[in-house]
Amino acid sequence: MNNILVYCELNGNNVAGVSLELLSKGRSLADTLGVQLEAVVLGSDLSAIASQVFPYGVDTLHLFEDSRLEYYTTLPHTSAICKLVDEEQPQIFLMGATVIGRDLAPRVSSTLKSGLTADCTALELGDYEDKKSGEKIENLLYSVRPAFGGNIVATIVNPYNRPQMATVREGVMPLCKVRPDDYVGNVVNHNLADYVSDSDFVVQILERHVQEQKNHLKDASIVVAGGYGVGSKENFDKLFTLAHLLHAEVGATRAAIDAGFTTHDRQIGQTGLTVRPKVYIACGISGQVQHIAGMQQSGIIISVNTDPDAPINAIADYVITGRVEEVLPKLITFYQQKI
Ligand SMILES: Cc1cc2nc3c(=O)[nH]c(=O)nc-3n(C[C@H](O)[C@H](O)[C@H](O)COP(=O)(O)OP(=O)(O)OC[C@H]3O[C@@H](n4cnc5c(N)ncnc54)[C@H](O)[C@@H]3O)c2cc1C
Repeated sequence: MNNILVYCELNGNNVAGVSLELLSKGRSLADTLGVQLEAVVLGSDLSAIASQVFPYGVDTLHLFEDSRLEYYTTLPHTSAICKLVDEEQPQIFLMGATVIGRDLAPRVSSTLKSGLTADCTALELGDYEDKKSGEKIENLLYSVRPAFGGNIVATIVNPYNRPQMATVREGVMPLCKVRPDDYVGNVVNHNLADYVSDSDFVVQILERHVQEQKNHLKDASIVVAGGYGVGSKENFDKLFTLAHLLHAEVGATRAAIDAGFTTHDRQIGQTGLTVRPKVYIACGISGQVQHIAGMQQSGIIISVNTDPDAPINAIADYVITGRVEEVLPKLITFYQQKI
């Protein structure tokens, strides 16, 4: 049977969070299809990779280790992966919708003529009927993503070309370890020279400048988020005071960012970050679908809003009906006294 393959991206010597999320999803898809889950990693020191991916249910790990693969470059990755896909013939091939995934996936899919659904927010399996021929195909990958400016959610299928390729946004799939930390599966060490020609290394990285991560919203267990209803930059700064007390991070809606209350890197939602903290405190946020797309999987949602019928209240666990200007100082005073 044709398996599921996941491209695992590296941050230094660690597998990126989005790749582990994809392995978690890949495992459940593989179980439903009754096939195996394979992962591929390219890099210069891969000694620590196996122990990171096998707990997420990988059956076979393909490694390409070479000092020239220390940093990602397009051509060697494309050549190695296209040949590996030719050999392994996976039915589904997944990558993160990261900077690397957005560069690599189109290269690979156009070389393989497989098609690609980019920036998915969900992956499911389902059947498809070709209305013209009447042909029915079972267990296709449904690649789900917002379309037409976020006004609809499109489900895209690729009935005839293989592999079915998709890139998936970071943070939308829950992490799920399914095997013990010391589980060891099948490791295949590939000889890079059999896959990549020297001319693929025509681009050399001479210098690298990495910008520090500006916030830790993705990993925060508490997020205090503000919307247009916060009213001003001065009010918005109070969210940082509360966040500091709670060891939380500050997020924002697009409307709050457009109003100049905070910076763009804090935007949560369809065109921003996807977060799933244990607690999400939404202050002056109406809960439009584009915002909810990025936070609806939070554990506990607390809404502070003057409008008792604000749409966000429908998904909130606790609602405080009131003005942010009055509620926030009370919360700050409360936690200052408690902590
Ligand atoms: C293609 C596209 C992509 C988008 N992507 C995103 C995205 O990624 N993220 C995102 O957030 N948005 C996104 N948007 C914008 C989105 O549609 C909404 O416009 C935005 O989320 C609304 O932000 P808001 O809730 O802060 O503002 P509003 O909708 O204006 O809501 C303000 C809320 O504050 C309440 N309020 C007012 N005064 C107070 C007060 N004093 N105290 C307490 N509550 C008060 C009001 O009752 C209201 O509920 C996108 C839109 C499009 C078209």
